[in-house]
Amino acid sequence: MKKLLKDLLDFVYPPYCILCEADLEPENKLVCEKCWERLESSSTMETQISKHRILALYPFSNDVRTIIHNLKYLNKRHLAVNLGSAIGKIIVEDKNIRKCDFLIPIPLHKVKQRSRGFNQSELIVDAIAEVASIEKDYRILIRHRYTKNQAALPMRERAANVKGAFSVLNKSRIEGKKIILVDDVITTGSTMLECIKVLKEAGAKEVTAVSAALAV
Ligand SMILES: [Zn+2]
Repeated sequence: MKKLLKDLLDFVYPPYCILCEADLEPENKLVCEKCWERLESSSTMETQISKHRILALYPFSNDVRTIIHNLKYLNKRHLAVNLGSAIGKIIVEDKNIRKCDFLIPIPLHKVKQRSRGFNQSELIVDAIAEVASIEKDYRILIRHRYTKNQAALPMRERAANVKGAFSVLNKSRIEGKKIILVDDVITTGSTMLECIKVLKEAGAKEVTAVSAALAV
């Protein structure tokens, strides 16, 4: 019975690092300490897209792609805790956003969320909220229209794909508020920009975009 349980746990969380394949210490899950340290040494990225401030934990790389893939498609939800905690530490250090009012994840359409079983950005927000002691809200912003996967579209079609896909449910809650909008990966920024636009139109005072990885 014990062996069966161990085999099952090894299947869910293999005993080796998914990046370098080194054996993992029992306290680490999926990625070894050396690999996290190596990733953290690649400095945080900050940029602007259409004059909006974008902060990202890591530049996009093969290692980051592996982590995001394991999180989203292989159901390795624990990785969101690592990513969110690291983002939380950056927010705590940033005097412009550490006193913001809400963390809001980029929402998935309810059909997609049901088929995946979770929204990876919500899981990242959970960990950020814990570290940075900021309120979170998953119900303010919704994706009411099903959109094609942005990554599968040519760059020029991405803005049109997400246009009009989002709406704010509770305008009075965000009026005059400072918001941090959270996504797992930002590529062209089309999804982020559309959400920022919708939140601003609904009365948000300031919206800062934060992501685990930035590929622009
Ligand atoms: Zn490793």
